[in-house]
Amino acid sequence: MLGVVSGCPLPGQDAAPAKRGLALVGGTIFVTSTAAPVGNGVVLIQDGKISAVGSKASLRVPPNFQSLDCSGKTITAGFWNSHVHFFERKWANAAAIPAPELTRQLQDMFTRYGFTSVFDLGSPWENTRHIRERIRSGEVLGPRIRSTGEVLIAPGAMPADNILGILGAMPLRNLEVRSAAEAEEASKMLLEMGVDGIKVHLQPPPPPKPPFPKDGIQAAVTPAHEAKKPAFVHPNSGADVIAAIQAGVDVIAHTTPQSGPWAGSLAIEMKDRRVALTPTLTIWESAMRHDRISAQYRFTAIAIGQLQFWVASGGTVLFGTDIGAIDYDPSEEYELMSRAGLSFRQILASLTTAPAEQFGDSERQGRIAAGLEADLVVLTGDPSRDVKGFAAVAYTVQGGKVIYRASP
Ligand SMILES: [Zn+2]
Repeated sequence: MLGVVSGCPLPGQDAAPAKRGLALVGGTIFVTSTAAPVGNGVVLIQDGKISAVGSKASLRVPPNFQSLDCSGKTITAGFWNSHVHFFERKWANAAAIPAPELTRQLQDMFTRYGFTSVFDLGSPWENTRHIRERIRSGEVLGPRIRSTGEVLIAPGAMPADNILGILGAMPLRNLEVRSAAEAEEASKMLLEMGVDGIKVHLQPPPPPKPPFPKDGIQAAVTPAHEAKKPAFVHPNSGADVIAAIQAGVDVIAHTTPQSGPWAGSLAIEMKDRRVALTPTLTIWESAMRHDRISAQYRFTAIAIGQLQFWVASGGTVLFGTDIGAIDYDPSEEYELMSRAGLSFRQILASLTTAPAEQFGDSERQGRIAAGLEADLVVLTGDPSRDVKGFAAVAYTVQGGKVIYRASP
């Protein structure tokens, strides 16, 4: 028998929170990534939405509300991980996974770390859609999911199924693209199937096979933008990042330490364009784990430098780790972002306000304010003192329901 949520009963699950209401009482509330925190605060939640936020002295908790004691803790808006994958074998045949097991898998990967929203940047779309529907119906507990579904890639660039199997992934039927016309066709087909964004993967195939067609990026981006959906690019070099920005891409899915530091020409392209980056700093240590320690250090240092360059050039940062391809604990990513010079508030923005704005959801998510979705994280400590505190979660609340509660 699988313990769904660390063996603890879930407040808000057993009762009917939509009617009674839920109150987070005590603790320090960061209502946005920039505003001064509210000390000894209260968040009131009703019908899945935040109904009020303020100090304990100014807000009375209605008697029929269920209270969660948050004293000594930190309350923020629910976190986004804007670069995840549902391609591990554990997600295969998602429609048939027993609900408690699916909830537990989503907990291990996301909800125990405070992620209430995720953007999947490459997985079998039909399968991921089943996971999303089961969460939406309330049958299982998990984050709000957006997905690009299958990615657009040059023919032969994706490893064969037997290699993917060794890496722990399901077989992936990505869309192999030879020309701009094929890129446009593939993008339109995915959008018709209901994906939430388009991902172009610029991994080159082994020579002499040709790389992703240069004019294919823009051909894929245009239909996405016509459908008011974002376009993502996985680059392999600073030149790829420039090509992606010139093609109008919204989010760069990785740093590229393999290509050396990013140069000033990239900053010129970034100017006045609202381009975001998911830094994925931790993945380089993981990808380089079989290489010499000096090479691992060098790669990570270059990736950290690229994030610094990105922020200094005015680029937006969205927290994103490529989870599914790496370990689940995000502590190291917070630490590396901090080493890149990002402050507590900049990291908080990358988890909350920045993705909400980037994906057109700032009226519904990303802040703690009356009328917004009650997606919240209660952290056991104070991440403004130690950024690893972003990974120490006491409660995760989504749509007014406690979907994760840490063991006492
Ligand atoms: Zn990825």
